[in-house]
Amino acid sequence: MKLLFLGPPGAGKGTQAQQVAAALGIVHISTGEMFRRHMAGGTPLGERVRRIIDRGDLVPDSLTVEMLLDRISEPDAAAGYILDGFPRTLPQARALDEAVGAGALDSAVVLEASESVLVERMLGRGRDDDTEAAVRNRLDAYRRDTAPLIDFYQERGIAVRVPGEGAAAAITERILGVL
Ligand code: ADP
Repeated sequence: MKLLFLGPPGAGKGTQAQQVAAALGIVHISTGEMFRRHMAGGTPLGERVRRIIDRGDLVPDSLTVEMLLDRISEPDAAAGYILDGFPRTLPQARALDEAVGAGALDSAVVLEASESVLVERMLGRGRDDDTEAAVRNRLDAYRRDTAPLIDFYQERGIAVRVPGEGAAAAITERILGVL
């Protein structure tokens, strides 16, 4: 199964993607995690994206697309994957279609939560890019650049909306139930 987890920052995509990937026996691919590993390892890519990520801006599509396409071409992704945090813009979604075809995704799971819950969760987890200004900026970037993807995948008939508030385990069951 090939899935995309979509939703605002703080909606719990990472937590849920990890649980659902384990339940389905497929790989969890998080572009945010990949960038954080590059930053922690001090790679050239990590140094290039650090300031962008700390501000809460999006990394340029070209860098993100190349990194992601490399990752999904690895053997462990052949059986299926959950993409978490990619595509995050319409150009990224088109690049994925172009490289892999519409078969790149069977479903797009849209996790929803109210803005107060999102902000509370992000400020509570203490990541380097979870300062108040960066959080506000990420929410703006989500509304402007990422939210249009919901319509994009809805028109394709593969979007499923799942309420993302409540206990994590209950949300995982909800997601597994709609797939
Ligand atoms: P969150 O779910 O809180 O938004 P992520 O771990 O998904 O956190 O992403 C952290 C940061 O990594 C983003 O704010 C952005 O700067 C960068 N990033 C991750 N994925 C992408 C992407 N597909 N395109 C551009 N930037 C990305």
